[in-house]
Parts: sequence; structure tokens; C-alpha cells
Amino acid sequence: MTRSFIKDFSSFLEKNNFSNSKIDTTKRGADLCTFGVGGEIPILFYPENDDCLGQSLVFFKEQGMPYRILGNGSNIVMPDSGLKEIIIKLPPLIFMGPSFKDIDKEEINSLEHGNSLKFNISASSSLMSLSRQFTDVGLSGLEFAAGIPGSLGGAVFMNAGAHGAEISEVIDFIKVLDQNGVEKIYKKNDLGFSYRKSKINSGEIITNVSLILKKDEISKIKAHRKECLEYRKKTQPLTFPSAGSVFKNISKEISAAKVIDDLGLKGFRMGAASISMLHANWIIVDEVGGKSQEIQNLVEVIIDKVYRNIGINLEPEIIFW
Ligand SMILES: Cc1cc2nc3c(=O)[nH]c(=O)nc-3n(C[C@H](O)[C@H](O)[C@H](O)COP(=O)(O)OP(=O)(O)OC[C@H]3O[C@@H](n4cnc5c(N)ncnc54)[C@H](O)[C@@H]3O)c2cc1C
Repeated sequence: MTRSFIKDFSSFLEKNNFSNSKIDTTKRGADLCTFGVGGEIPILFYPENDDCLGQSLVFFKEQGMPYRILGNGSNIVMPDSGLKEIIIKLPPLIFMGPSFKDIDKEEINSLEHGNSLKFNISASSSLMSLSRQFTDVGLSGLEFAAGIPGSLGGAVFMNAGAHGAEISEVIDFIKVLDQNGVEKIYKKNDLGFSYRKSKINSGEIITNVSLILKKDEISKIKAHRKECLEYRKKTQPLTFPSAGSVFKNISKEISAAKVIDDLGLKGFRMGAASISMLHANWIIVDEVGGKSQEIQNLVEVIIDKVYRNIGINLEPEIIFW
């Protein structure tokens, strides 16, 4: 990316009075993904609101500049060689529309058990924080997300899920901006959700998500959420850099972890990356100086060994940028 583009883009933001937007040219991929790997990022762009984002997308199109949208980087492996695209990250404090914070707790308290409420929430919100906040006020639906360190937008894109539940189950509609900066609304049924997958078009950026949560007994919801967290702590190597499960499960009955474990691959290592001893479907970076290439090599070895031994093609859940 040329310096002249960065200069032109800065002037564009200034001319349009988007002075609260931020361009950061100092970050590396390793700063932006939970695996902690990856090289130079030419521009990390935080738009100040959806108007700024929409107009910037038009500017990028006119300039022929490709972009990518980053959530919390908890399902991405950034490349060692860095990226050429602009990386867009929605700033955490923007709530484009009425937010969870604006909702009167009394309205929730007066709700009958089993009835639901809708919330229009910024896609940049932390999923873990939403899970905690909804639980605390007696709204059920996001308990499963207690330990998923993604943004709401990333969770929708991935159809994140755990403990038999998925984010798609609590979605009403989403708002996106397309490559022309045009806002579109998609109802849940337009989004083609399946296991860890949505059909959100390439280049579309989710800005808002309308969630439907159900009123229930606070103690019951809290207990369920606690159970989910405790299960995680027992079964997942949470103290090491990772991106959670590496492969999709083969079916509801056959987990990827089981087939990898059965092949004796726990502890297998490529440089700084290894297959966790605690959970065979997790790759962790447990030595300093981790590289995305090492993670990629490990993924390829696992796919190859599983295919040769049992004829099943494992499909990665993590995304290599
Ligand atoms: C410790 C740990 C535990 C995990 N446990 C689970 C689990 O139990 N279940 C599970 O499903 N996942 C799990 N994950 C993986 C990950 O947290 C989820 O996939 C999460 O939903 C990714 O969200 P993100 O914001 O980090 O997205 P990112 O990793 O930043 O991005 C993922 C994809 O979503 C796209 N995207 C992000 N934001 C937007 C947006 N606003 N609009 C359009 N596209 C967008 C990106 O372009 C990218 O293609 C875990 C990860 C870790 C590190």
C-alpha cells in the first residue's frame, strides 16, 4: 500500500469531518489475532460511525483498494508475510441504534417468563460481555457464549456455537453495509446459517445485530452459564494463544478431537505450535516466536493423517488470512 493512499485517505476523512476515526499504521497481525502470529498490517482503520464506514467503503472502491473486516481476531490466523488490504475494525463504543444499555431493567423485570425482548446491538460488542449482561438481568439465549472471545459480528459471520447452541438461534435480523456503502437488512432466514457458517456476502460488513432473548429465572440462567464456563476450564487449554477448535466436528456423534486423539497426535509439534495435550482439536502456540506457517503445517499434517487413516477430510473452522 502506498504512502500516497494513506495520505489521500487521511485527507478524505478530514474533509468529511470524520475526526474521530482512527488510522493505525503501527500494528502487526500478531497484535490483532488471538493466536498472536502474523506480520505487517499497512492500515488498521477504525471508522467513527456507520456513515463514516459507508463513505469510506465508497472511497476504497473508487481507489481500487481491497479491505477486510476484523472482529476480535479469535478465529483468524494472520499471515507471517503480512497483509496488503485495509483492515477495518468497528470501534467498541459505537452503538448504532438503541443499545442494550438503553433498555430499562424494569421492562425486563415486568416481563413474564418465556416472553422475549429484542435488542439492536452493535456488531463490535463483545460476545462474552453480552452473555454476562443478559444473564445478570434474567434474559436467556447467550449462556453458551460465556467463553467465546469474539465480537458479535464475528460470531454471526461464523455462526459461533457451543454446548449444543448457536448464535443463529437468537438472531432476528442483521444490518450490513455492502461494498458500495449501502445499508441492507437481512432477516435470519436470509442468512443461510449452518454449522459454523453463514451466507453473508463477501465484502459485506455487519454493523448491527438484532437479538431476541427470553425471560427466565435468573438463578437458572446463571447456573447454566456457569456450567458452560466450568466445562471449558476443565477441557480447553485456555492459558495459551489459540483460536479455539481448529476443525469442524465430523458429525454430531463424531468429534474432530476424538479422531485426532485416536491417532495419537496430542502433543505433536511444528515449531512453536503444537496440538494441545488437553484437547486434540486445539492448536496452541506454546513457545515464543510462533509463526502462522507452523500452524498451517500442523493443520495440513492433521488433515493428511486423518484422511490416510480413516478416509475423512477434516474441514478447518479457523480461517487463514
Ligand atoms: C479461547 C477460544 C475459545 C473459542 N471457543 C469457541 C466456541 O466455543 N465456539 C465457536 O463457535 N468459536 C469459538 N472460538 C472461535 C471464535 O471465538 C469465534 O469463531 C468467534 O465468533 C469469532 O469472532 P471474532 O469477532 O473474533 O471474529 P474474527 O476472528 O475477527 O473474524 C472471523 C470471521 O468473521 C468475519 N467478521 C468479523 N466481524 C465481522 C463483521 N462485523 N461483519 C462481517 N464479517 C465479520 C471476519 O472477516 C472473518 O472472516 C473460540 C476462540 C478462542 C480463542
